[in-house]
Amino acid sequence: HAKAEGRNNFQFYTSSGKTAALRSLTLEGDLRMALARRELFVEYQPEIDLKTGETVGLETLVRWDHPTLGLIPPLDFIPLAEETGLILPIGEWILSIACMQNAIWHKSGLEPIRVAVNLSGHQFRQRNLIKTIAKTLTNSRLDPQHLELEITESTLMENAASTIHTVKELKSMGVRLAVDDFGTGYSSLSYLRRFPLDVLKIDRSFIRDVTINADDAAITRAIIAMAHNLNLEVIAEGVENEQQLQFLQENNCDMAQGYYYCRPLTPAKLTKHLEKQSSGL
Ligand code: C2E
Ligand code: MG
Ligand code: MG
Ligand code: MG
Repeated sequence: HAKAEGRNNFQFYTSSGKTAALRSLTLEGDLRMALARRELFVEYQPEIDLKTGETVGLETLVRWDHPTLGLIPPLDFIPLAEETGLILPIGEWILSIACMQNAIWHKSGLEPIRVAVNLSGHQFRQRNLIKTIAKTLTNSRLDPQHLELEITESTLMENAASTIHTVKELKSMGVRLAVDDFGTGYSSLSYLRRFPLDVLKIDRSFIRDVTINADDAAITRAIIAMAHNLNLEVIAEGVENEQQLQFLQENNCDMAQGYYYCRPLTPAKLTKHLEKQSSGL
């Protein structure tokens, strides 16, 4: 019995291991070409002010339109981009596209809005980060207060001592800083207090069952209260229905983002969304 099981395991291991390895080798090669071949693009998802119902921010989300595999979601290629270092050129491209698009919206007469860009751990730890961001802001002539950088809680806490230095430098440039996926890491409150942050984004995993699970409700309330005590704003991620929205409004959450309001949209569709809002429709 043991032998049979061992063999099965072995077969399972080699076959799946091999395909996985092959697949990621091919994908890696493809990803190297993706930027030059213009296969990457971004969508923007509105962040809504819960008091006014207005779109006050946009999160930039990258997508890969692969020539044979079709649309690949970021969670299936960002880790690969991180491992290979490709996240650096890709991340720089995303940042500049988002800043330029936002500058175009401003110039076209739309009300100023802020655009949020996700920074991966690799990007955040990169020595050139500050220079890259300064250059992007200059090139796009975007007001720094209209750029928000999202850093995950785990990246922020990884090496808190050296992180504080980077965060302070970013802050001194005038950009806004958000902690992404908050609640999933292990933030030390005393560290959190030392970072000059602007926003906490409550992870979607707490919002999903917030109206039926007492623990999730308690955690969400605690995060909102703590954020406000630290003078931070709070965004809830992944709001999909009216009940979740109501819970968040009753508990003084500042902003929400999710399919209930709007899915991530292409720049063209988002332009229409913003035009509709600014004309008061
Ligand atoms: P994230 O930064 O936490 O982004 C929010 C994710 O939640 C997005 O998934 C968004 O489409 C999804 N979402 C928004 N509202 C809802 C909802 O109501 N229900 C559900 N089920 N999902 C919702 P997406 O675009 O697949 O991105 C996944 C993750 O990939 C992001 O999580 C982020 O960690 C990473 N990512 C995406 N774009 C970039 C990027 O440009 N750079 C980097 N470094 N990472 C990125
Ligand atoms: Mg994010
Ligand atoms: Mg998030
Ligand atoms: Mg998340």
